[in-house]
Amino acid sequence: MQATNLSYWEKANFYRSDVLIVGSGIVGLNAAIIIKKQQPNLSVSILERGFLPSGASTKNAGFACFGSLSELVEQEKICGTNALHQLIGKRWKGLQKLRSMVGDTKLDLQINGGFELFKPQDFTLSEKCVSKISHFNELIKDITSNDSVFNTAHQQINSFGFDGIDCLIENKLEAQLDPGKMIKALVEIASSLGVVILSNCTVNQFEQEENRILVATSQGNFKTKKLLFCTNAFANQLIPDLQLKPGRGQVLITKPIENLKLKGTFHYDKGYYYFRNVGNRVLLGGGRNLDFFTEETHQFGETPLVQNTLLRLLKEVILPYTAFEIEQKWSGIMAFGPELSPIIEEVKPNVFCAVRCNGMGIAIGSQTGEEAGEMVLRSF
Ligand SMILES: Cc1cc2nc3c(=O)[nH]c(=O)nc-3n(C[C@H](O)[C@H](O)[C@H](O)COP(=O)(O)OP(=O)(O)OC[C@H]3O[C@@H](n4cnc5c(N)ncnc54)[C@H](O)[C@@H]3O)c2cc1C
Repeated sequence: MQATNLSYWEKANFYRSDVLIVGSGIVGLNAAIIIKKQQPNLSVSILERGFLPSGASTKNAGFACFGSLSELVEQEKICGTNALHQLIGKRWKGLQKLRSMVGDTKLDLQINGGFELFKPQDFTLSEKCVSKISHFNELIKDITSNDSVFNTAHQQINSFGFDGIDCLIENKLEAQLDPGKMIKALVEIASSLGVVILSNCTVNQFEQEENRILVATSQGNFKTKKLLFCTNAFANQLIPDLQLKPGRGQVLITKPIENLKLKGTFHYDKGYYYFRNVGNRVLLGGGRNLDFFTEETHQFGETPLVQNTLLRLLKEVILPYTAFEIEQKWSGIMAFGPELSPIIEEVKPNVFCAVRCNGMGIAIGSQTGEEAGEMVLRSF
């Protein structure tokens, strides 16, 4: 589309940049910040198709997590012990970077611990996870500087008020934050460094010209020297052949509950369900595994199958003795792939991508954005 009535000044200052980033989620913002911090003279703009970021970064559950025990057991099978150690290191480093850049107060970060729940019928899995506690404590002690991150916490089952659960494993370093506050703070930092963030601007295609890249958008044509896609689940729409698929996450939140017993972040059924307290409300999400086919979508929305299962879980396991009402439901879109690590690469000369945070972008997003920004800087 050709934008009409653009002034000379608008074209020069908003439609030309040294680096153009697509996507204003956690990865895109972090990439922009690192580029401006290291090379303040480069002009950096971000184009975002939504009025607000419209993927996962402001729609997620706010778990500042680096892996529950059963997730780590599964992930070790996929990538091996050394690669998993490296990946946990990146998640941890990403979290620490986010905390030191934004500050815990601005993130509303609370370290209340994370807990994984198991039912009696999950005995084989819970036994396996309990038997792996010392292995994973040993594996991550150089990363976290703590030698007993994971512990059994069965004694807390009653105090949280759960029903039908007989095994609880705690990760004492897991934290929770407010993803809206996180993105607001990152936008503030990026803007203070001179990054231009333009919303309601969908990138439709790009084309290499002699020394520049022409980027066609819903608001007209932009020109840039370097183009970086931080579009996560939507990356395949403009860069086909990337090894990633979308995965929708459905979430609900209750109205405030008097004397709510649970506090912290909770994982259930190998991480396919997750819930936490948000003050005195409960936020619950997950259930993609009920129908992977339908949930492999770029469309936001809710389905009766997932919503009814979430409600049942709330009524029967999480809040069995407490009346509650649902206040709000929403969904977000994640990116998954055969490998656990993000794709951070140059896909064509001067065109880069940093995508596929595999559902754990709060932890690994800052690190991914930073690595992507450094990759772009090296190419100048
Ligand atoms: C329901 C849910 C719960 C989650 N819970 C957690 C959690 O508790 N902890 C955790 O660590 N992670 C969680 N995640 C995952 C985490 O949110 C993501 O991994 C992370 O936000 C990915 O960040 P990103 O910047 O790569 O992508 P996104 O935040 O998706 O950003 C990509 C942006 O690109 C924009 N875009 C796409 N295409 C275009 C285009 N053509 N033109 C312009 N803009 C475009 C999109 O609008 C979007 O804003 C959850 C995700 C969901 C959906």
